[in-house]
Amino acid sequence: MENEKVAELKALLSQPKKTVIIPHRNPDGDAIGSTLALQQYLKQEGHDATVVAPNDFPDFLKWMPGVNEMVLFTEDNEKAKQLIANADLIFTLDFNHFSRTGNDMQEVLDKTDTTYVMIDHHQAPADYAKFTYSDTSISSTCQMVYHFLEMLDDTHKVTKEIATCLYVGIMTDTGSFRFASTTSTTHRVIANLIDKGADNSRIHQKVYDTNSTNRIQLLGVALSNMKVLPELKTAYITISQEELDTHQFKKGDTEGFVNYSLSIKGIIFAAIFIENKQDRIVKISLRSKGDFDVNQFAREHFEGGGHINAAGGKSDLSLNETTTSFERILNNYKNELEHGEE
Ligand code: 5GP
Ligand code: MN
Repeated sequence: MENEKVAELKALLSQPKKTVIIPHRNPDGDAIGSTLALQQYLKQEGHDATVVAPNDFPDFLKWMPGVNEMVLFTEDNEKAKQLIANADLIFTLDFNHFSRTGNDMQEVLDKTDTTYVMIDHHQAPADYAKFTYSDTSISSTCQMVYHFLEMLDDTHKVTKEIATCLYVGIMTDTGSFRFASTTSTTHRVIANLIDKGADNSRIHQKVYDTNSTNRIQLLGVALSNMKVLPELKTAYITISQEELDTHQFKKGDTEGFVNYSLSIKGIIFAAIFIENKQDRIVKISLRSKGDFDVNQFAREHFEGGGHINAAGGKSDLSLNETTTSFERILNNYKNELEHGEE
């Protein structure tokens, strides 16, 4: 964000404001971590600040500081709408377009005339925000919130709770500091967060070592459903609604499954197709190694988007039709995939 914009925002924040902070629909560790961290900072500064999330999120994030004060648009709809209507400032975090909040909430945001602040690391940010801090090179929105506090000269105000929230999002969005987006700056930010009290080892445990038996057994099903197309350096997994039901699927249970396909030697493109009978869609996650651009792939074929190596989308076809169509589409990428490097 340019210096003048930072100064303008700083001036705005020098008086108590009513603020709302919004993550994307189906919020992940980065979305929840960044919004909760910013909320705590704004409250400390004397503002009214509430996180309004479009919908519910996985249990493995529900221990995070401030999580009980969150308002869910799906469950507390009137309250959520009122908070949005009364807000002087709305921060939107970890997404680039109102559509990422889901249809009902998008409609509300579209007609809300207020000052928006966007902090996000996805490609092609929309232009609804008066203040846009967008940088696709940064690992996570949580890292950006830390840099945002640097811009405001306020990193000394980072508490243990704020540090914990930011740590979670950087950890989850970098695959525990292994993706290419992890830079020396990311590690320096992490070092600062640990200095501020983030209990790193415990955070990893709380997020990653609280699996249910059902989830691990669902992983078994997913792995045995995996189809490998060695000549296309592609592997994909399907999970049907019935398989989800048998294992009492809960939000977040399939998080990370797609990475198992990508961990196979020689595979550069991985996908997972998860049937969702209620929404009448197949939810798709895509991952890649090297230059194969899954963001572009998701945009072109599955109404989605994301980043070069991690993206998502959806299909309105049945699960079977979706994978058949996927395999057909893959043939158009034969050359690119065959020559793709790990
Ligand atoms: P995941 O596969 O973990 O759900 O998402 C990977 C990345 O793709 C994230 O950055 C996420 O925001 C983005 N993404 C996932 N699903 C969609 C979608 O339906 N539309 C768009 N535009 N981005 C998505
Ligand atoms: Mn993110």
